[in-house]
Amino acid sequence: MNIRERYQEIEKSFLHPKSCLSSQTKGRLKPEPEDDIRTPFQRDRDRIIHSKAFRRLKHKTQVFFSPQGDHYRTRLTHVFEVSQISRTIARALRLNEDLTEAIALGHDLGHTPFGHAGEAILRELHPGGFEHYEQSLRVVDILEKNGKGLNLTFEVRDGILKHSKGRGKILSDEPFTLEGQIVRVGDVIAYINHDIDDAIRAGIIKKNDIPQEFLKFFGDRHSKRIDKMVRDVIFTTIKEDYEKISMSPEMEQMVHSFRDFLFEKVYYNERIIEEFKKAKRMLESLYNYYLDNPHIIDAQELEEKELHRKICDFIAGMTDRYALYTFEKIFIPKSWAVP
Ligand code: MG
Repeated sequence: MNIRERYQEIEKSFLHPKSCLSSQTKGRLKPEPEDDIRTPFQRDRDRIIHSKAFRRLKHKTQVFFSPQGDHYRTRLTHVFEVSQISRTIARALRLNEDLTEAIALGHDLGHTPFGHAGEAILRELHPGGFEHYEQSLRVVDILEKNGKGLNLTFEVRDGILKHSKGRGKILSDEPFTLEGQIVRVGDVIAYINHDIDDAIRAGIIKKNDIPQEFLKFFGDRHSKRIDKMVRDVIFTTIKEDYEKISMSPEMEQMVHSFRDFLFEKVYYNERIIEEFKKAKRMLESLYNYYLDNPHIIDAQELEEKELHRKICDFIAGMTDRYALYTFEKIFIPKSWAVP
């Protein structure tokens, strides 16, 4: 028995019967020989961490564009917070922590520069539409490794594709595994809390703008609020016998209201919206420029549909700062140096 097989025996004896065992994965798009040390989900996590798209997350917006302040979240730190919260839940429930971690680290790989502003403009311009969760799957299936993709397991790909909910229902039995459902909830718990924290840091809201009912219910500190939500998910899921990842009705309703508060006061805040429009205009200019000058991205031979796809993938993959740099290079005249 090799190391991986021994570990998979431990999974079988230790994990909850409703967990997703790595020995029972539905497999990869292209079959591959097994590793003798790591399980398929551990390999997926490692492939994600070693990908280029993962490294680019450090310069992609969470809410605040290309922030100067070092304490603002970026897409990369968001993903770590989602991973930490989700792993705590998975471990407490004796579900597969490796699978949970792989989904959490991969879930936002398809995010555009400038967050949802980028997503909104690509949705408008690309004839096939655009959703960041579909793009995340595209990154791991096709775009990484120069078109070869990472060849991840079915369970990780499923969790990545179904993590997103916009303003829709937080809980869902859509992800095929309970581990995928955890990341869907962990994503919300992470962003609600860190976006409030960053909004206070940015002066968009003040600490005492948070309504009393939320402070009373969730707690008056960032860490208390996360703790309260995480505990509720763990104990409600146990109480409901792992039917799906759950929250108590009261918690679910309060989290929805808290998210609404965030949308109204932060995401739709005038100062944020102003920047949102600028980011959209900038990416739109880039998109149209590449459409008129396909040779710049080596796409002069492509049919119209493929050209759009290539431009969309290229822009979606940009970091905030690369988009700014490219825009400046193309559209801003250089000041002539004094000889
Ligand atoms: Mg996310």
